[in-house]
Amino acid sequence: MNRTECTTSTTCPYCGVGCGVEAKVEQRELIAVSGDRHHPANAGRLCVKGSALHETTGHEGRLLRPRVKGRDVSWDSALDEVAGRFTRLIEEHGPDSVAFYLSGQILTEDYYVANKLMKGFIGSANVDTNSRLCMSSAVAAQKRAFGSDSVPACYEDLELADLVVLVGSNAAWAHPILYQRLARARERRPGMKVVVLDPRRTATCDLADRHLALKPGSDGYLFNGLLTYLADRNALDQTYIERHCEGFDEALAAAREQCPDIATTAALCGLPAAELEWLYQRFAATERSLTLYSQGINQSSSGTDKANAIINCHLATGRVGKPGASPFSLTGQPNAMGGREVGGLANQLAAHMDFANPDHLDAVRTFWQAPRLAQNEGLKAVDLFRAVEAGDVKAVWIIGTNPAFSLPDAARVRRALERCELVVVSDCVADTDTTRLADILLPATTWAEKNGTVTNSERRISRQRSLLPPPGEARHDWQILCDVATRMGFGEAFAYRHPAEIFREHAALSGFRNNGSRDFDISALAQLSQAQYDALAPIQWPVTDRCPEGTARLFGDGGFYTPSGRARLLPVWARPPATPCRMDELVLNTGRVRDQWHSMTRTARSPRLLEHCDEPYVEIHAQDASRRGIANGDLVRLHAREQSYIGRARISDGQRPGSLFAPMHWNDRYTAAGCVDALVAPVTDPVSGQPESKQSPVRLEVV
Ligand code: SF4
Repeated sequence: MNRTECTTSTTCPYCGVGCGVEAKVEQRELIAVSGDRHHPANAGRLCVKGSALHETTGHEGRLLRPRVKGRDVSWDSALDEVAGRFTRLIEEHGPDSVAFYLSGQILTEDYYVANKLMKGFIGSANVDTNSRLCMSSAVAAQKRAFGSDSVPACYEDLELADLVVLVGSNAAWAHPILYQRLARARERRPGMKVVVLDPRRTATCDLADRHLALKPGSDGYLFNGLLTYLADRNALDQTYIERHCEGFDEALAAAREQCPDIATTAALCGLPAAELEWLYQRFAATERSLTLYSQGINQSSSGTDKANAIINCHLATGRVGKPGASPFSLTGQPNAMGGREVGGLANQLAAHMDFANPDHLDAVRTFWQAPRLAQNEGLKAVDLFRAVEAGDVKAVWIIGTNPAFSLPDAARVRRALERCELVVVSDCVADTDTTRLADILLPATTWAEKNGTVTNSERRISRQRSLLPPPGEARHDWQILCDVATRMGFGEAFAYRHPAEIFREHAALSGFRNNGSRDFDISALAQLSQAQYDALAPIQWPVTDRCPEGTARLFGDGGFYTPSGRARLLPVWARPPATPCRMDELVLNTGRVRDQWHSMTRTARSPRLLEHCDEPYVEIHAQDASRRGIANGDLVRLHAREQSYIGRARISDGQRPGSLFAPMHWNDRYTAAGCVDALVAPVTDPVSGQPESKQSPVRLEVV
């Protein structure tokens, strides 16, 4: 890169909003960023995190050279070691003795190559991702209801809705630009109503007409109660149900049995009946109702059912994929959706195809010319690391994520990795909880160096473009994977020279043998030249010959991807969190703070991002604090699972009595706080495998 100054359009690497960024580089240094006025997600705006991107790209702390057992080695030597040891383990113990664990931070092209190598050539589906912790319940619910993992809505619906219900979503902090869009829409249209359903009063409530502080984990009851209410008040769209849905009677029967009236539902949710009735009346009367849901729904042992309870209400009123009217899952990470498009989850193939469908297996096998395509689903994140602990998975390659910090029961994950025969970690950061446990470390590029695509919450594919040269010997994840694949004897299928070649193959697979019948189809992009790929403007899938400009909304015509073409309402039997609290315990909710991202390896580099919140804390209701002799500002300790976490007490009437909140970002690299995810039980949703990170019983004491 010989330019002295240039501005490049790229995409923010943080949240699932997927904002466009204009990045100004001078003398090989990123000196400024601004919002891309032409990107439809943000139209020129950036939140605080995004606007500090140029303050976070220094090389300090970077992993710059490959290392084997703590010694710097050449790339050839490291790659030989990875390929040789994976090959030997597969020969001795079979393909399921190895696994990949990926990240919603890596690019679609990286994901595609990892998935192809593991599922098509190694022959195992043990390739999962930290997106399992973020949105897999929403994926499972959409598949059950719509026949495919497809978000029906788009961001413009925020501006078109007359009622916006945010459930388990602190969008003001987790999706700030969407929150700002909503705030502006409300200013323009004062008649629009905004309701927040969350046990905690969050910053998002500042915008809300009503905040319903429901009991932690009781969302399923609330939406079952809404379905009953809609039926009892003749607020259903009977014509839509008859023409486009199945399973309505069973879903209503289950809802009615559990939540026969408002008083019963209000008691189950811990809400005043009048508050609930106000919400139900609004929803019944408002055609343009949009329900945004996020981690508060997904991170639950019944997250899939909760999401289906929400979707049931939208289907029963015919409000799916229409302007301003849809259920709308907001993803956490920048490329959670891109990963699932190419099969980054252990329970799906590629291009949204399924292991259960022999035609799909045959299509992928034929397209890849795969010598040993995996035939069955692989291990989902929590089970994968349990298999590592048990010795069933003997080698794991972790790419761009820190499971020893972020998975539930993180201390157990660390012990599992300590015992594992071979831990390979590709990362841009030298020192993380997980790199400390690696046998082989591979230096990877990061945002500002990577080149490829990501997909945001509204299905919009955007380009992330390289701005800076890789430091030291860092390489792109897809290149590292291809080099290992070549050494394992699969070179012909992994001879990519540029991410555009991978993208074209991925786009072609999405349309292969599907006769236009699969929703995730971007086959119209399969012919892009490298120059067209480099210049690709943000576009929403599906992108086909019939919809060359992309598709804003799905299912608005009442057609779905189920075998019958009808959407499915699911009977939901709502249930409380899996692990009940004992008398001396409180319910811990974990989440983000506004200006930090994940384990802060990037955001903590910016002093101004630390100004908003510079230390770990525990938010506590005054009643719970006074019972334990805790004053505001005291250091307090949370205990669970023989682990502890220390934070400063913030006494807040925004907490429900009996509930606590602690941010997820801090660990031993920054303070002696401990890791909050070590306190989270590895309890998962039986359908999606997503852990219950929002409702963990813990003990609280003053330090
Ligand atoms: Fe980046 Fe999300 Fe902020 Fe947009 S809202 S600038 S994608 S962190």
